[in-house]
Amino acid sequence: MQINEVTQLDRDGDVAIVTIDSPPVNALSAAVRRGIADAFREAMDDAAVRAIVLMCAGRTFFAGADITEFGKPPVEPTLLQLQAIVEDSPKPVIAAIHGTALGGGLELALVAHARVAVPSAKLGLPEVKLGLLPGAGGTQRLPRVVGVARALDMMTIGDPITAEAAARIGLVDRVTEGDLKAAAVAFAREMIGAPLAKIRDRPVAVEPGQFAAFRATNAKRFRNLDAPEAIIRAVEEGASLPFDEALQNERALFRGLVSGPQSAALRHVFFAERQAAKVNGLAKDVATRGIGRVGVIGAGTMGGGIAMNFANAGIPVRLIETSQEALDRGLGIIRRNYETSARKGKLTAADVETRMGLIEGTLALEDVADCDLVIEAVFEQMAIKQDLFRRLDAIVRPDAILASNTSYLDLDAIAAVSSRPDRVIGLHFFSPANVMRLLEIVRGAKTADDVLATAMALGKTIGKVAVVVGNCHGFVGNRMLAKRHAQAEALVNEGALPWDVDRVIHDFGFGMGPFAMRDLVGLDVGWSREASSSSTVREILNETGRHGQKSGGGYYDYDAQRNATPSPVAEQIVRDFSARQGIARRVVSDGEILDRCLLAMVNEGAKILDEGIAQRASDIDTVWINGYGFPPYLGGPMFWADAQGLPVILEKLRALEAAHGEAFTPSPLIERLAADGKGLATA
Ligand code: NAD
Repeated sequence: MQINEVTQLDRDGDVAIVTIDSPPVNALSAAVRRGIADAFREAMDDAAVRAIVLMCAGRTFFAGADITEFGKPPVEPTLLQLQAIVEDSPKPVIAAIHGTALGGGLELALVAHARVAVPSAKLGLPEVKLGLLPGAGGTQRLPRVVGVARALDMMTIGDPITAEAAARIGLVDRVTEGDLKAAAVAFAREMIGAPLAKIRDRPVAVEPGQFAAFRATNAKRFRNLDAPEAIIRAVEEGASLPFDEALQNERALFRGLVSGPQSAALRHVFFAERQAAKVNGLAKDVATRGIGRVGVIGAGTMGGGIAMNFANAGIPVRLIETSQEALDRGLGIIRRNYETSARKGKLTAADVETRMGLIEGTLALEDVADCDLVIEAVFEQMAIKQDLFRRLDAIVRPDAILASNTSYLDLDAIAAVSSRPDRVIGLHFFSPANVMRLLEIVRGAKTADDVLATAMALGKTIGKVAVVVGNCHGFVGNRMLAKRHAQAEALVNEGALPWDVDRVIHDFGFGMGPFAMRDLVGLDVGWSREASSSSTVREILNETGRHGQKSGGGYYDYDAQRNATPSPVAEQIVRDFSARQGIARRVVSDGEILDRCLLAMVNEGAKILDEGIAQRASDIDTVWINGYGFPPYLGGPMFWADAQGLPVILEKLRALEAAHGEAFTPSPLIERLAADGKGLATA
């Protein structure tokens, strides 16, 4: 029987089967909730029905709430009302799970009287990733099933677990290798007549000091975040409340989060990432080409990591170097990386060999002749890259794609030396390239649509968050970063110390401040002793052999475990440098540090947007969150600026311009939007 547009009610003897089919992921929309409620009423009224199976058609069991309904007035039946109908059913209810039972989907499964799943199913409560808590009883029922410790882990990390793992901890009652519906119906039949056990009636066992210990252990991971603390409180406070009051308490905590700024930011981040996949001005049906083999030129820091991305996806790679020594070094680092993953249990020993087998090292550039895509990751010098592109022109097929991993250089100038500038594109990976999710895809003036579409598809294949950017010095990420660096350096010359700047940036929410970051990367990257002129603190540090973590010291001193302490030597260098520049050092407030570092970035971001280098403000946010450690719970630099209010940003920029000059001359876009009462998100 068709109950509504997404709900079907069938009978198999004395078992009713309620099936939801609401593509793509059976989100618990109003229509889905209404359909389940109506089907259950129908099944309960039918005297011939003695048990009920709840399942989904299509890709997956309910993969969560319908997040487009967030922040809107609730439509009945609410998920809580629906859960009451299911949980109070006088006939046993079995949830039959395939795909992913996530969030509200798992919370709905938890009011069934038993759960059966296929081995490939995954179960989890990922709400924390959107700055929320499981608000439909998850914080109360999960601890009653898997224990408080496991429940806290699952809910504060948010990653799903496999059906096998779920079976081990009692979250599913049975895993079936066979047909899910048949197994669920058989299970339902076994339960007819048995007492109906509800999870809510189980006790919850709390050990003394358990919550305090959990908070302490995870303090770093939960830094600045609202949702994990609310989750802990829901469990902690709920444990000593009657169940219905505990649900109300959970609800109140949920409401606090859903109307708070962090969840708004994290939901923005979620949608921004999906939006980034859309390329303006690209025909929908533009053909992408298969990438069967990739050439990577240069086996240094970036080339090696880039090659790993393709090997991980099963795509064979030819890795080219200029000397056997460099090639051996590069391949050795790749192998060590894989072996480290294997030691951590993320890969098997066989996986390591399979992946290494996909990366073929060679010294002959001609060996990329049969590659569909060639990515260069050689030294960051225009002449070297142009020379390479000229040579590649004579080697690769006319339809092959030629890509540069350049950080700053003019992509069009590189493309110009090629006879096929339309097949040239920028693929800007981030270090470490096998780990970082961001991929800036640089669209050159002549890049063809199919080349761009292929690059976007490839980004997805290798698990990257790809963002299309235009050609300019430093593209989106590095162009903004350079502005922040300039302010960080100026602040230190004027009176702040490197660790003051780092502390303020860290407290804002970045994992690391700019100077600690430089020490990590190495102060000598891009520096040469011959060209050094003692004209920056960084140059002087390099001249004195302080290259950062790897040399035991840079801005900071490092012990054998690489723990940092502020370096008195670096401090003296900073003070001497100011004196030589004739700068009278002054007290620089934390507020000034934050404003100058962030507003320099925001202002540059607005210029990037105005110039069309970024397609939309949310793309800039996606770049900064996935490539530069901007705290996701603040939504990215553009979202953050809008949240402050552009009139506030504009006023501060004007004051900073008066004090520090043109670095802060407001972007015309900010002036226009502020005057119109709009935000960067509307640009
Ligand atoms: P690297 O010095 O570690 O590696 C460059 C490698 O290229 C060296 O091993 C060198 O032997 C090899 N090489 C030079 N010329 C070659 C040629 N003609 N043929 C074959 N191999 C050649 O440098 P890197 O850090 O990997 O940077 C490479 C590129 O990636 C640069 O354009 C850089 O701007 C860009 N990039 C670097 C980072 C980073 O954080 N290191 C991040 C993004 C992009």
